Amino acid sequence: MQNTLAKLEHVATQMHFEPAEESDGRIMLRVQQPAVAPCGISLHPSKKHESLGVYDARVDGGRPVKLLKTMLTTACERNCYYCPFRAGRNYRRVNFKPEEMADSFAELNRKGTASGIFLSSGILRGGVTTQDKLIDTAEILRKKHHFRGFLHLKIMPGAERDQVQRAMELADRVSVNLEAPTVEHLDFLAPMKQFMDELLKPLQWADEIRRYQLPRNTWNGRWASTVTQFVVGAAQDTDLEFLKASDYLYRKLQLRRTYFSAFTPVHDTPLENLPPENPMREHRLYQASFLLRDYAWGLEELPFLQNGRLPLDVDPKIAWAEQHLLNAPLELNKAGKEALLRVPGIGVKSAETILAARRQSRLRSLQHLRQLGISTKRLEKYVLLDGVQPARQMRLF
Ligand code: SF4
Repeated sequence: MQNTLAKLEHVATQMHFEPAEESDGRIMLRVQQPAVAPCGISLHPSKKHESLGVYDARVDGGRPVKLLKTMLTTACERNCYYCPFRAGRNYRRVNFKPEEMADSFAELNRKGTASGIFLSSGILRGGVTTQDKLIDTAEILRKKHHFRGFLHLKIMPGAERDQVQRAMELADRVSVNLEAPTVEHLDFLAPMKQFMDELLKPLQWADEIRRYQLPRNTWNGRWASTVTQFVVGAAQDTDLEFLKASDYLYRKLQLRRTYFSAFTPVHDTPLENLPPENPMREHRLYQASFLLRDYAWGLEELPFLQNGRLPLDVDPKIAWAEQHLLNAPLELNKAGKEALLRVPGIGVKSAETILAARRQSRLRSLQHLRQLGISTKRLEKYVLLDGVQPARQMRLF
């Protein structure tokens, strides 16, 4: 176990560079702690076990998980230009056999060090062989160790349809990282990866499996959810391209989330001399993608600049409201849910609260909204309450 722990620690030293990872979209996290991590979740390094790569995470629904973020091997035969694990880079590699990884994690789980695992891998002897090893590890965890906790498996470029299905049966979440929003941008970042056949295809298979097959052999009666990640800012990409791709993935392929990772140059890689991307861009992309996914916004409603970027200095929802609501405020007693969701400060829960409260009585004051638990600071410029604009009313008062 001592040797295994040393190997896990070695993997953890580079995992914050792992390009197949996700940040949680909160700018403060990235600024304070660059070692952000995986799976749909907010992550903070676990104070006690950070050296092993364990994070305090919250998975879907807010369930807390001590998440071990690791790899079966840090060796790779591919040469993605941004990646610290690329073939030929001078870096000590670490390998685990499936049994060794599963047994080590089970031991950490028994001791209470980790309660969930995100498992990725470099590619050795092709995507199919590597995917088999990831699946073998998951099988051992679920069957031999009866592990019932959170498991996120990476799908390797080149994996087959049956492997995607088996991964979706064993895991809670699977991910295929598209890395770039278009074929041309992927060619710039990772010329050995094939956008359509190796990356988009498995996401399409996952969608078909979820739509048309019953989850009979799944470990918990449900298919795993699917996510992806993009590397932002290395390939002269635009926010419009990322959000167009996200919109397609949310609407057509039922992705749970698209993650954005601001590019950070890695020493001894072909992109080492490119400047790092501003983490605020990553943050704005998250805000905009949530508007597409959760607030029923259309791509054309997002406030893109002429160069296809979002403004960095303002939340996209506020930028839209300044253009559309400042001089035509929305009457909260009449607006439907979709219109309510366009007002800064009104999220899904507040919109539902407003709709429910309207069935009891008319909304006449900010005080009334506050009594319903709705913070009014951001919305008051953009709404009417019973025909009166509360911000103006307060100024007169
Ligand atoms: S396939 Fe590319 S991104 Fe993944 S580990 Fe290998 S070099 Fe890195």
